[in-house]
Amino acid sequence: MALYLVRWPDLSCTLVTAHDEDHLGYLLDQVGNPEGCRWTEYHGPVFIDFHLPVRVTIDWPEQAGRPLSPEAVRIEDLSALAQGEAIQADVDASETAYEMLKAIMEFAFPATANVYYNALEESLDESQLRDALMADLTPLTEASWRRAHTERTAKDDPAAKLAVEIDTSMGLAKHWEAIATGTHKGDDDKFGGNDGLAEDEAGRMLSLLELLNFETAKSQTIPLRRHPELTLRDEANAITAHVFRNGFLEDLHSGLPSPLVTNPRFARISDPEMKKLMIESSAKLAHWLYLRELLLEKKPEAYYELLRVITLRASRNWDREAQSYDVSAPEYDQSCASCNYPLHPEWRCCPVCERPI
Ligand SMILES: [Zn+2]
Repeated sequence: MALYLVRWPDLSCTLVTAHDEDHLGYLLDQVGNPEGCRWTEYHGPVFIDFHLPVRVTIDWPEQAGRPLSPEAVRIEDLSALAQGEAIQADVDASETAYEMLKAIMEFAFPATANVYYNALEESLDESQLRDALMADLTPLTEASWRRAHTERTAKDDPAAKLAVEIDTSMGLAKHWEAIATGTHKGDDDKFGGNDGLAEDEAGRMLSLLELLNFETAKSQTIPLRRHPELTLRDEANAITAHVFRNGFLEDLHSGLPSPLVTNPRFARISDPEMKKLMIESSAKLAHWLYLRELLLEKKPEAYYELLRVITLRASRNWDREAQSYDVSAPEYDQSCASCNYPLHPEWRCCPVCERPI
C-alpha cells in the first residue's frame, strides 16, 4: 500500500492509500469523476487528531490536590454521536502538523502556497491571493475542456464513448478497455482478466462496450448447457424470480398503486431500502451461484429440477425473449369526473386534483 496525495480539479485534495495507480484511479472513481485529478505518492509528515463528537465537562478544582474522581466527569452533550455522527478528524497546531499542511498545500495548491508561506507580513494581500487561487483553479477549467473534448470524440473513439457512458476519466476508461481486450499488462486476474471469451468470430478482441452489447438478443434463446428445452433465459427468469422478485422487492411492491410515486421528483425507494434490497439480493444470488457451480458440475439433473420447480412456482408465464417492457399509464374503468385521471377502484379521492370520489 502507498499513501497518495490527490489534488481534485476544485480547491480540495485527498490523502488516500491504494495498492497502485490503477487501484487509486478505481478508488477516486467511486467518489467522483477523476478527470483532471493529479496525484503523487506522499512521503511527508502526517499528524492528524481524532475526537468523538461529545462534550464532556470536568468539575474538579486543580487545587483539590487529589486525583480526579469519576463523579466530577460529566457527559454534557452526546446528541451528535447519538445521531450517528462519526469520529471527527482535526489538524492541531503541532510542528509536525504544520509541516504536513505545508507539504500538502505546496503540492496541491502551489501558487496559493507560494503567497501564503512567503508573505512578509501577518495579513496576506488579498489581490495577490485572488490571483494565486485563480492560477490554482486552472485544473477545473482544463478538466471541463477535456470532458467536452471527450464528449465530442465519443462518436468515433470507443474509449471516449465508455468514459462518457460511465462518467469517468479517459485514463480510467482506457484502462478498463485494456482489461476487457486483454491487452492490460500485469496481473489480470486481480481485475477479472480475459479468458478468451471476449473475441468475435474473426478472433478479434472485443472492447468493453462491444462486449456489453454482444449478441444480447441471441443470448436469450441459447440452451442451458445443451439442455433440450431449458434456455439461459429460463434460468435467468428463475433466478430473477427467486433472488429479486420474492425478496424485499416484494414488500416494496405490495399495497395499493399510487400515482404519487410515479412523479420523478420523488424517490420510490429510500437509500436504506436500496441498501437492504442490494445486500439481500446479492446474498441470495451468491448462494444460487454456489448451488449452480456445485450441481452443474456434479449433478446437473438436480439443478435442472431446481430450475423447473422455481419456474413452476414463480416464473411460469414469464416472457422468454423480450428484453424490454413499456410502462404505460394505468388503465382503470373509472376516471376522475373533473380531470379525467384513471382511478383505481379503491382510491377515495383523485390523486391528481384531490377531488373526492
Ligand atoms: Zn382528478
